[in-house]
Amino acid sequence: MGEWSDYFEDFPEENPANWVNGKFDPQLREQLNREAAQQAVANLEVRQLIMNAKRDRKAKALFDTAVCPQCGEHKLNSYRISETFYLCECQECGIYGAGATHDDAVAKTADSIGEGLDWRDGSLY
Ligand SMILES: [Zn+2]
Repeated sequence: MGEWSDYFEDFPEENPANWVNGKFDPQLREQLNREAAQQAVANLEVRQLIMNAKRDRKAKALFDTAVCPQCGEHKLNSYRISETFYLCECQECGIYGAGATHDDAVAKTADSIGEGLDWRDGSLY
Protein backbone atom coordinates (compact mmCIF):
# COMPACT_ATOMS: atom_id res chain seq x y z
CA MET A 1 0.00 0.00 0.00
CA GLY A 2 2.86 2.37 0.83
CA GLU A 3 4.35 1.66 -2.57
CA TRP A 4 1.30 3.00 -4.44
CA SER A 5 1.06 6.17 -2.34
CA ASP A 6 4.78 6.80 -2.84
CA TYR A 7 4.34 6.24 -6.56
CA PHE A 8 1.32 8.61 -6.75
CA GLU A 9 3.26 11.25 -4.82
CA ASP A 10 5.95 11.16 -7.51
CA PHE A 11 3.45 10.85 -10.39
CA PRO A 12 0.19 12.50 -9.26
CA GLU A 13 -1.18 12.44 -12.83
CA GLU A 14 -1.11 8.63 -12.64
CA ASN A 15 -3.47 8.65 -9.65
CA PRO A 16 -7.05 8.13 -10.95
CA ALA A 17 -8.31 9.98 -7.85
CA ASN A 18 -6.77 13.22 -9.18
CA TRP A 19 -8.89 13.21 -12.35
CA VAL A 20 -12.28 14.94 -12.63
CA ASN A 21 -14.42 14.19 -15.67
CA GLY A 22 -11.42 13.10 -17.71
CA LYS A 23 -9.32 16.14 -16.73
CA PHE A 24 -6.30 16.04 -14.43
CA ASP A 25 -7.17 18.47 -11.66
CA PRO A 26 -6.04 17.45 -8.16
CA GLN A 27 -7.13 20.82 -6.67
CA LEU A 28 -10.67 20.48 -8.00
CA ARG A 29 -10.73 16.86 -6.82
CA GLU A 30 -9.65 18.00 -3.37
CA GLN A 31 -12.35 20.72 -3.35
CA LEU A 32 -15.01 18.23 -4.48
CA ASN A 33 -13.94 15.78 -1.78
CA ARG A 34 -14.10 18.55 0.82
CA GLU A 35 -17.58 19.59 -0.36
CA ALA A 36 -18.78 16.00 -0.35
CA ALA A 37 -17.54 15.62 3.22
CA GLN A 38 -19.30 18.86 4.26
CA GLN A 39 -22.51 17.66 2.58
CA ALA A 40 -22.29 14.36 4.42
CA VAL A 41 -21.96 16.19 7.75
CA ALA A 42 -24.94 18.44 6.84
CA ASN A 43 -27.03 15.40 5.89
CA LEU A 44 -26.16 13.77 9.19
CA GLU A 45 -27.20 16.90 11.10
CA VAL A 46 -30.54 17.09 9.24
CA ARG A 47 -31.18 13.40 9.90
CA GLN A 48 -30.41 13.96 13.58
CA LEU A 49 -32.82 16.93 13.73
CA ILE A 50 -35.59 14.84 12.15
CA MET A 51 -34.92 11.95 14.52
CA ASN A 52 -35.01 14.31 17.53
CA ALA A 53 -38.28 15.87 16.32
CA LYS A 54 -39.85 12.46 15.83
CA ARG A 55 -38.65 11.29 19.26
CA ASP A 56 -40.15 14.40 20.88
CA ARG A 57 -43.39 13.94 18.96
CA LYS A 58 -43.59 10.29 19.98
CA ALA A 59 -42.95 11.18 23.63
CA LYS A 60 -46.01 13.45 23.51
CA ALA A 61 -48.10 10.95 21.51
CA LEU A 62 -47.43 7.94 23.77
CA PHE A 63 -50.69 6.88 25.43
CA ASP A 64 -50.31 3.19 26.25
CA THR A 65 -47.74 0.50 26.97
CA ALA A 66 -48.84 -3.12 26.73
CA VAL A 67 -47.51 -6.65 26.47
CA CYS A 68 -45.81 -7.27 23.12
CA PRO A 69 -47.44 -10.07 21.09
CA GLN A 70 -44.02 -11.16 19.81
CA CYS A 71 -41.57 -11.08 22.74
CA GLY A 72 -44.03 -11.03 25.65
CA GLU A 73 -42.34 -8.07 27.34
CA HIS A 74 -44.49 -5.24 28.68
CA LYS A 75 -42.84 -2.83 26.27
CA LEU A 76 -45.25 -2.36 23.35
CA ASN A 77 -45.70 1.39 23.14
CA SER A 78 -48.76 2.84 21.43
CA TYR A 79 -48.66 6.32 19.94
CA ARG A 80 -51.43 8.52 18.63
CA ILE A 81 -49.44 10.47 16.04
CA SER A 82 -52.60 12.02 14.59
CA GLU A 83 -56.35 11.37 14.67
CA THR A 84 -56.00 8.76 11.95
CA PHE A 85 -52.45 7.50 12.48
CA TYR A 86 -51.76 5.15 15.35
CA LEU A 87 -48.46 3.40 15.79
CA CYS A 88 -47.27 0.52 17.98
CA GLU A 89 -43.58 -0.14 18.60
CA CYS A 90 -42.01 -2.67 20.94
CA GLN A 91 -39.07 -1.18 22.81
CA GLU A 92 -37.67 -4.67 23.35
CA CYS A 93 -37.86 -6.66 20.10
CA GLY A 94 -38.59 -3.85 17.61
CA ILE A 95 -41.81 -5.17 16.05
CA TYR A 96 -44.20 -2.45 14.91
CA GLY A 97 -47.43 -1.75 13.13
CA ALA A 98 -49.60 1.20 12.22
CA GLY A 99 -53.20 1.88 11.40
CA ALA A 100 -56.01 4.41 11.25
CA THR A 101 -57.17 3.29 14.71
CA HIS A 102 -55.40 1.85 17.73
CA ASP A 103 -57.05 -1.54 17.10
CA ASP A 104 -55.76 -1.49 13.49
CA ALA A 105 -52.23 -0.71 14.68
CA VAL A 106 -52.31 -3.49 17.30
CA ALA A 107 -53.67 -5.96 14.71
CA LYS A 108 -51.04 -4.94 12.16
CA THR A 109 -48.33 -5.43 14.80
CA ALA A 110 -49.66 -8.92 15.63
CA ASP A 111 -49.79 -9.76 11.89
CA SER A 112 -46.06 -8.94 11.65
CA ILE A 113 -44.91 -11.53 14.19
CA GLY A 114 -41.89 -13.41 12.88
CA GLU A 115 -41.20 -11.00 10.01
CA GLY A 116 -38.07 -9.65 11.72
CA LEU A 117 -39.27 -6.04 11.71
CA ASP A 118 -37.42 -3.51 13.81
CA TRP A 119 -38.73 0.06 13.92
CA ARG A 120 -35.20 1.23 14.83
CA ASP A 121 -34.09 0.17 11.32
CA GLY A 122 -36.58 2.60 9.76
CA SER A 123 -40.04 2.86 11.22
CA LEU A 124 -43.19 4.11 9.59
CA TYR A 125 -42.69 7.25 11.62
ZN1 LIG B 1 -41.52 -7.18 21.59
